[in-house]
Amino acid sequence: MLAERFGCLGGNLTIGHVSPILGSVAPGTMADELRALLEAGHEGAPQTVTRNGQERHLDHEEAKGVLARLCADAGVTVLLCAPVVDAVMEGSRVAGAVVDTPKGLRKIRARAVVDATGDGRVATAAGAGFRIGRDADGATQPMSLEFDVDGVDESRAIAAWGGSDPVKLPSGEEYRELCKRMNAAGELPENVTIVRLHRTLHPGERCVNATQLNGVDALDPSALGRADAELRAQIDRCVAFLRRHVPGYERCRVKSGASAPGVRETRRIVCDAAVTDADVEEGRHYADAVVHDAWFLIDIHNPTGGGQAEGHSQPARPYDIRYGALLPAGVEGLLVAGRCIGGTHRAHASYRVMTPCMAMGEAAGVAAALAAARGTTPRAVPSADIRDKLARRGVAL
Ligand SMILES: Cc1cc2nc3c(=O)[nH]c(=O)nc-3n(C[C@H](O)[C@H](O)[C@H](O)COP(=O)(O)OP(=O)(O)OC[C@H]3O[C@@H](n4cnc5c(N)ncnc54)[C@H](O)[C@@H]3O)c2cc1C
Repeated sequence: MLAERFGCLGGNLTIGHVSPILGSVAPGTMADELRALLEAGHEGAPQTVTRNGQERHLDHEEAKGVLARLCADAGVTVLLCAPVVDAVMEGSRVAGAVVDTPKGLRKIRARAVVDATGDGRVATAAGAGFRIGRDADGATQPMSLEFDVDGVDESRAIAAWGGSDPVKLPSGEEYRELCKRMNAAGELPENVTIVRLHRTLHPGERCVNATQLNGVDALDPSALGRADAELRAQIDRCVAFLRRHVPGYERCRVKSGASAPGVRETRRIVCDAAVTDADVEEGRHYADAVVHDAWFLIDIHNPTGGGQAEGHSQPARPYDIRYGALLPAGVEGLLVAGRCIGGTHRAHASYRVMTPCMAMGEAAGVAAALAAARGTTPRAVPSADIRDKLARRGVAL
């Protein structure tokens, strides 16, 4: 059973309007299957490889149907518009979840629970510890709303993937310098020093990752409401900038965008193990890995200013995610997957992208299924058994 608080599946992949799918893991995971499903019918679409690695484009509307069919075909009972509001506890064991439904609260008992809420909602309800943001000041990565523009003249328009991209405009000026100039001149909003223009599956379209708001407590609904108003105003200013200053974008218009707050960082649950800075920087491997060769840059959108913290995103080497990073410390019956797993602020800035998150979800699902079948808790399932089951599914470990 899958309980989702909003009205469609996918999280940031659909309602968050996030694109492209970034990061990589070793072959054979569900990330391969999902990306193939999302790209089916778009075989001629451009492939983009940048410093970010292979950027996998997607159509957010199509993705909603792809994910709904995937779950239906697999026999998953999907609850929509059903936010989890509490954990059902038996001592220190999570024995299910309470979901809010239009008919009222519903208690669901479960032999194993996976918390993939991004915020670690179930884990914290169950009493798990958590950390937020940088160790020094708790500051988190900024919020953003992504959106697509269409009406882009493909014969003249650039694409630009980030503040390290030296792509030039026909005038000879680097696009990133134009963005900085327009930010300094007040045409672009505060802290918006780069307007990233990612290609999509469709010519004449770009996915724009630019808006930015720092210092938002993304666990506070009223702060989210204020942020939404501010970020939507920023979208208008970014589009005005594109129309006025970027060749090929004179007639662009907003086609679609995020329908939910674009939150990069909230709780990181304290788990039996943590993905560390050294894991990501040195590419460490472990015998109890359930995700192998995860990779993405250490990409910290600046919590206190524009662009990236640390100047640019920093290098990473393919690393392993250990089973213990999915097991909330002191809590039984529960796994975490996605951006809320155990890890440091800097490591999170790498594993939070969507390909590693998909692979973690698969690993957590396999572990939960083994625990349920054996009538035991996820912690009691040896990582070797999870690895064996993943390997038999074709996952390279
Ligand atoms: C603006 C922005 C730009 C980004 N850019 C990129 C990019 O270009 N490429 C990339 O790969 N990654 C990017 N990321 C990062 C990436 O999208 C996320 O880190 C990743 O999607 C996290 O996956 P997740 O499954 O942990 O969380 P999510 O994708 O947020 O999924 C969590 C799901 O749980 C649901 N949920 C939450 N609480 C509850 C509850 N209480 N009850 C029931 N359901 C609940 C949510 O509605 C959602 O469906 C970006 C993130 C943001 C915010």
